[in-house]
Amino acid sequence: MRTMSHCLLRTRSKSESGRVERMQQATKQRRVLVIAAHPDDEVLGCGGVVALHAKRGDLVTTILACEGESHRYQGRDVAMEQHTHNAARMLGVNDVRLLGFPDQQLDTVTLTKIVTPLEEAIGELQPTLVYCQWGGDVNRDHHLLFEAALVATRPVEACIEAVYAFDTASSTEWAYPRRFVPDTWVDISSTLEQKLDAMRCYESELRDYPHPRSVRALEHKARAWGNQCSMDAAEVFMTVRRTLREGRVG
Ligand SMILES: [Zn+2]
Repeated sequence: MRTMSHCLLRTRSKSESGRVERMQQATKQRRVLVIAAHPDDEVLGCGGVVALHAKRGDLVTTILACEGESHRYQGRDVAMEQHTHNAARMLGVNDVRLLGFPDQQLDTVTLTKIVTPLEEAIGELQPTLVYCQWGGDVNRDHHLLFEAALVATRPVEACIEAVYAFDTASSTEWAYPRRFVPDTWVDISSTLEQKLDAMRCYESELRDYPHPRSVRALEHKARAWGNQCSMDAAEVFMTVRRTLREGRVG
């Protein structure tokens, strides 16, 4: 009897310590890196998730490859940089890095030139999670940025536990064939308004409803994604890679 209660105690204490370990794991501050081609892509694709990360105290860095102005606005200053910082603040992101490559002209730059700053940032930040823009879009910059991100996040840095690709409204759905097939749904019902407010910061990029880059269409899209998994609103991702190291499972 004595032995049995001792065993029970020991079992309970083991399971208790496992529970504590799991809780610690769940509440641990993480470093998150978002990689996108143009200002506003980061909000369209994962603004709600970024706000969730910021809320739980994770450190989020956003890297935007292109300046987003020169091609479409032909030198006209639409204050894109200011819009980017306002949107980031709205989501709770303090660290935004603008690489300044020419808008809609990433194909004039060698892939190495795009990869290098991404690799440097990963080496410096040691992110646990990376969200990058899906490359199978109608936009050539998205394609090249995704290629560069795949190189920069190849599994040589043990810190990266997962790389997820996000879609971009008014680009991913206009590609053919449409190959963006999500495998991960994240409930953003608590941060959807923040995402929409962040998008409102990008005055020059917003369009009137029913354009997919209108606030109302973005809300519909989040609701539709969410409803697929009985949630009120969601953002969706394709898992590029997940790595569970040192005996971790699940
Ligand atoms: Zn874009």
